[in-house]
Amino acid sequence: MKNYEFIESALIHGGIYGDERTGAVNTPVYQTSTYMQDGLGKNRGYEYSRTGNPTREALELLIAELENGDAGFAFASGMAAITAVLSLFKSGDRIVISSNVYGGTFRVLDKVFQNFGFHYTIADTTDLEALSKVLTPDVKAFLIESPANPLLTVTDIKAVAELARSKGALLVVDNTFSTPYIQRPLELGADIVLHSATKYLGGHSDLIAGLVVVRSKELGERLHFIQNATGGILQPFDSFLLIRSIKTLSVRMDRHVENTLEIVKLLKGNDAIKTVYYPGLPDAQGYDINQKQAKNGGAMISFELQDGYDIRKFFESLKLIALAESLGGVESLVCHPATMTHASIPKEIREKVGITDGLIRLSVGIEHGKDIAKDLEQAIREAKL
Ligand SMILES: *Cc1c(COP(=O)(O)O)cnc(C)c1O
Repeated sequence: MKNYEFIESALIHGGIYGDERTGAVNTPVYQTSTYMQDGLGKNRGYEYSRTGNPTREALELLIAELENGDAGFAFASGMAAITAVLSLFKSGDRIVISSNVYGGTFRVLDKVFQNFGFHYTIADTTDLEALSKVLTPDVKAFLIESPANPLLTVTDIKAVAELARSKGALLVVDNTFSTPYIQRPLELGADIVLHSATKYLGGHSDLIAGLVVVRSKELGERLHFIQNATGGILQPFDSFLLIRSIKTLSVRMDRHVENTLEIVKLLKGNDAIKTVYYPGLPDAQGYDINQKQAKNGGAMISFELQDGYDIRKFFESLKLIALAESLGGVESLVCHPATMTHASIPKEIREKVGITDGLIRLSVGIEHGKDIAKDLEQAIREAKL
């Protein structure tokens, strides 16, 4: 029986809390590849660490509890997690992806899985009517992000889950931007939720990891088979680090979001800014849906400078905020999607979905909000032509 009710407590006490043998409050790092067996066919639950490792298992039970699913799996990166999930399907199957999924997700489908006879359709998953029109009988899954990278567009997860179910397809949600503290897709009807735990779950820009949670025992068995067969597992020490990070997720996210609201207000009031994309703004695309399915709008913002501002100068003038790939760390990070995270998407497709050369993506950190604001304001001033 659980002795807590709220997710803030589950972040700390969920999965396997502490070490039963010694009473250590943290799960030890079981840095071992193999396990002594008591006799032929007799083991103590572990045989080989690709198949199962107690530190990784503690993390896997924790994320399964947080996402309210049946089983969790930890991988060496978000892309390894996505690759494992895509390995559930076979040649001839088709997967529908949102038009602004993570660039690496598009790349692995286009450049790797397509070589194995796998098909994909890029669709605007925010428009259910348009979405239902592109569905062919070979569609076996939908892979969506909400809010999606980098325009923070919102997809109605519950509605897409119903559509997927009616077609006998699975709904996979990449929940990296929200984390289970803000949004839990399995509770909205998704079948699989996955994370680049490199981002908010890790939270300190010091590790690369991926997590998957499935809603059913059957999917759990299939995914465990794939995890063991293909081997892209997370190492024990990184599993330990990730458990440690997840304990502070609620306080970090609260500060991330508090700062974000301050920065959004500042950008909206600055004449140098042409557009601000943030799903927590009442005039944003999908605001009502996001309010229904998520706790808040999260801590990612994208924006465009007006004509007459030099974007290169803007990036070069930032002093506190680092120009870097990635997001979700304690430090504020800014990136240029067109040449960085989304460079693997052809320009025509990019422009069509709104990822213009002038788009700037900001991952708001947990520094003092006023310091972040000051840095942005001075860099905007410097960028004026
Ligand atoms: C970063 C990211 C990934 C890829 O994860 P890695 O840990 O870098 O392999 C997948 N999806 C989203 C939304 C991401 O931001």
